[in-house]
Amino acid sequence: MEKHSQTNKKRIAILGSTGSIGRQAVDVIRRHRDLFEVELLTANNNSGLLIRQALETDANNVVICNGDKYREVADALQPHYIKVFAGMDSVCDLVTSDNIDIVLTALVGFSGLRPTVAAIKAGKVIALANKETLVAAGAIVTALSRAYNAPILPVDSEHSAIFQCLQGTSGARLAKIHLTASGGPFRTWDKESIAVATRDDALKHPKWDMGSKVTIDSATMMNKGLEVIEAKWLFGVRPDQIEVVVHPESIIHSMVEFDDGAVLAQLAHPDMREPIQYALSYPDRLTLDNRKLNFAELGQLTFYAPDIEKFPALGLAYEAIALGGNMPCIMNAANEVAVKAFLDGEIGFYDISGIIGETMSGVDFVSEPDLDTIFMTDREAAAKAVSILKTHCHR
Ligand code: MG
Repeated sequence: MEKHSQTNKKRIAILGSTGSIGRQAVDVIRRHRDLFEVELLTANNNSGLLIRQALETDANNVVICNGDKYREVADALQPHYIKVFAGMDSVCDLVTSDNIDIVLTALVGFSGLRPTVAAIKAGKVIALANKETLVAAGAIVTALSRAYNAPILPVDSEHSAIFQCLQGTSGARLAKIHLTASGGPFRTWDKESIAVATRDDALKHPKWDMGSKVTIDSATMMNKGLEVIEAKWLFGVRPDQIEVVVHPESIIHSMVEFDDGAVLAQLAHPDMREPIQYALSYPDRLTLDNRKLNFAELGQLTFYAPDIEKFPALGLAYEAIALGGNMPCIMNAANEVAVKAFLDGEIGFYDISGIIGETMSGVDFVSEPDLDTIFMTDREAAAKAVSILKTHCHR
């Protein structure tokens, strides 16, 4: 028996509900219970928070991916008639349910690809927070999205900004995207200081409160590289139409330029709940209790060209996107391995881009990979990166 009666509420699945994006999505839904209800929550490990979220949102189903925690979650939730499952296969199975309208993919890294593909094939609306899905398999995922009538709505703040700027401009040709970047914690550091930066230095993001993977990606600026690739697939533009501009205040979340030179921008104080909510409520806009802009108080906004010398990961991303095929997947896999090693204190900051670059030239290039090839490439590239990493560690 389903607990929710037939309503006009949008029924949401949140994949990765205990992460930074997932928690903020639960907050958005909590404030708009008249519009949304939670059908499915999934988490990797954080059983305590998953249990609290499920009770608070009155979810119908939850998945704890770590099977060791299944008993704990089941004991807590089954008395409340919440169904509990374990493992990634359950996630891929449950996202296809007829009781789900929107799947918010807030998983970290390549792991998001499989459940996202399953949700697309079931024709769900995808609120995409997992950029690595489009980086690793953009051609395949966007083709599936068209074939199965499963629109992909961006949650990444920059891409949400672009998407918002494009509303009501149908027919106008997008000439260029100006993709803004905060510049991360090392924007004003010199190369020598960055070279000896610690994990804690890199985790101090000046503007955004995010998970550790994306925060390190911001410090290396690989995050912006991933976002260039994400933008290419979401908006169907060429890489040379995407210009990265460093904007330390993080007020403009990105801009679009048309053939007549007109530029539209989306502005707000940094708060991920805004793009999350827009993806869930689209095409409507809802109220949000966020901080509003006061321009006289802001005074000025500043812009700089990115420094590829200081942030070589951004250059690698442009290389990967130019080569295409499985190269962005190779780059992404190496990045995931290297970021984890940096977070674990095994390597230095510039070893991250070093390992990515070496992996990109050490794994077989495939120009038109299918989905199986992408999964194989991810495994191969991760293994290659681990072996390169070991030589870096022993230097
Ligand atoms: Mg972003």
